Amino acid sequence: MPDCLFCKIIRGELPTNKIYEDEKTFAFLDINPVNPGHTLVVPKKHAVDVFEIDEEEWNAVMGAVKKISLAVEKALQPTGINLGMNNKSGAGQVVFHAHVHIMPRFQNDGHELWKGKPYGAGEAAKIAEKIRGVI
Ligand code: AMP
Ligand code: ZN
Repeated sequence: MPDCLFCKIIRGELPTNKIYEDEKTFAFLDINPVNPGHTLVVPKKHAVDVFEIDEEEWNAVMGAVKKISLAVEKALQPTGINLGMNNKSGAGQVVFHAHVHIMPRFQNDGHELWKGKPYGAGEAAKIAEKIRGVI
């Protein structure tokens, strides 16, 4: 994808702080991190999101996420690591080349998790059936 920001980073056309690269994946520091060490892992083959990416590329991304999470843990000794992925603008995606966020957490870093809300009566079973029905 000629005009894709992350494709340009992968091709070396834009500066980046590269963390890791293999045949199918590329990882680099997020330019606006939630905490230092926040890393993005992307497939080298352009895909917009989790809906579009080939299973083989996805599996490679997951392998790299595991490897880099271990390295971030070892190098920075965070109190924990959040993994995240925004798919489609409705979920907050702003760069449309699939990417997984590795976000190290530190004591009193001010970040919170999403808030859960309980199901209504009978709602969970219906939702589960709806999802199972299309797998
Ligand atoms: P999102 O699409 O919401 O998952 O977020 C895109 C992420 O890409 C944000 O966390 C940005 O800080 C990050 N980002 C945008 N441009 C760059 C860049 N040139 N280098 C590294 N990270 C970037
Ligand atoms: Zn791309």
